Amino acid sequence: MAIKTVLGEAQQVKIATDLIAMGARLQVLQEETTLSRERLLKLYKEVKGESPSKGMLPYSTDWFISWQPNIHSSLFMGVYQFLVKYAGVKGVQALITAYRLYLDQVQGIEEGEAVLSITRAWFLVRFFNAGMMQLVPCRECEGNFVAHTNELHGNYVCGICHPPARAGKTNLKAMHAESLAQAA
Ligand SMILES: [Zn+2]
Repeated sequence: MAIKTVLGEAQQVKIATDLIAMGARLQVLQEETTLSRERLLKLYKEVKGESPSKGMLPYSTDWFISWQPNIHSSLFMGVYQFLVKYAGVKGVQALITAYRLYLDQVQGIEEGEAVLSITRAWFLVRFFNAGMMQLVPCRECEGNFVAHTNELHGNYVCGICHPPARAGKTNLKAMHAESLAQAA
């Protein structure tokens, strides 16, 4: 898809700028915009004041299953799917909007910190689109949680209802209650 209009290009720059400000990696920008790598690098330096990281991308699906990441990923994915289903928001715009709402929600909680990066959120959407992951309802709280698709989840209990012994964080419970209230 080539950019043929000034307006079209302006939109691409806006998408790239939003993603960069949220901390997206260069590969995400290359996939989600039609701007050249050179332009993206320049834009990245302008927005962040430094070059993008060159490290490995976080490819693993397992990360999303570990305790705290799972709660954050599930919160994000709930918002994302809601936007796609009911608000008619699509593609990269759904990613950006859902991530913004996720940040708002996390920051509204005492000591809240965004465990899920925008790059991981982007991967999560891809894993869902590829049918590798899905949302599964917890049989105790009825919230929906990110899980692998190739496993049986009939008796699934989420990490909030049954947290590991070391984790007694009440703020996660608060976050969960809030996200359920919002989804209702
Ligand atoms: Zn639960």
